Amino acid sequence: MDVFFLGTGAGVPAKLRNVTSIALKLLEERGAVWLFDCGEATQHQILHTSIKPRRIEKIFITHLHGDHIYGLPGLLSSRSFQGGESLVTVYGPAGIKEFIEVSLKISKSYLKYPIEIIEIEEGLIFEDDQFTIEARLLVHGIASFGYRVVEKDRPGTLLADKLAATGVKPGPDYKKIKNGEEVILEDGRVIHPEEFVGPPQKGRIVTILGDTRVCENAVLLADDADLLIHEATFSADEEALAHEYFHSTTLQAAETALKARAKKLCLTHISSRYDRNDWKQLEAEAVKVFSNTVISEDFMEIGISLRMTD
Ligand SMILES: [Zn+2]
Ligand SMILES: [Zn+2]
Repeated sequence: MDVFFLGTGAGVPAKLRNVTSIALKLLEERGAVWLFDCGEATQHQILHTSIKPRRIEKIFITHLHGDHIYGLPGLLSSRSFQGGESLVTVYGPAGIKEFIEVSLKISKSYLKYPIEIIEIEEGLIFEDDQFTIEARLLVHGIASFGYRVVEKDRPGTLLADKLAATGVKPGPDYKKIKNGEEVILEDGRVIHPEEFVGPPQKGRIVTILGDTRVCENAVLLADDADLLIHEATFSADEEALAHEYFHSTTLQAAETALKARAKKLCLTHISSRYDRNDWKQLEAEAVKVFSNTVISEDFMEIGISLRMTD
């Protein structure tokens, strides 16, 4: 599980920061990539990476501002020519369906794969045997969602060496033990599964927020997250400006991470008013409050390592 930043700028594209798009790479977990937002030229950014558009399984749109969605029609169309045959599901606020359908219809673009567009409301928006995803509304003038991706705990691994030493032979008994069932050996001994299965592997939590003012729902979404990705359009001393334009400062992002007891914070959606020389300063403003903070850059990757079991 890795997070890859395709675009980390706010509002308009800049030379060093394209507009927003973040890829959650779940290649080991499910052979898939999930995209969060798709600003203009996201598909161009993807060309510089190892990400295969045909692997994109889900696209989560935080809100309908242009810097988060203008890349969608192009990316969806091109995917047809890049070997994409599998279903893509797009989640987003009301209006996303019309935006996609009208763009594709007017440009006479026909997709060679099925697409499902789900206009979401707050709450649980997706669940399967691996993940749950919860969405909550933030505060941004228009509907802007934050997403909390929770990986489910996985059963522990079978302690094969210990089983072999006890005299249990590989085969159906191993499967039963892994499934938590007791096994009675031919000599009458009873094998208790809990003694032969390692501790469950704790699932990881990644929280990706849309544009927002500082708000309580951001804290709830980021509770105990391994990684919180939070917009920081402005520097710490521009709180009034951030409030006026429904954005956050570096410091506010750090305070949210601290309140939520997140493990790591990554700042993104950086205004183009700040150039390369300012970035370390922006990061330092947040580090003062929340030490495990990094500022994102285009093409940066953050690995989400497995959680230590308690
Ligand atoms: Zn934005
Ligand atoms: Zn916005």
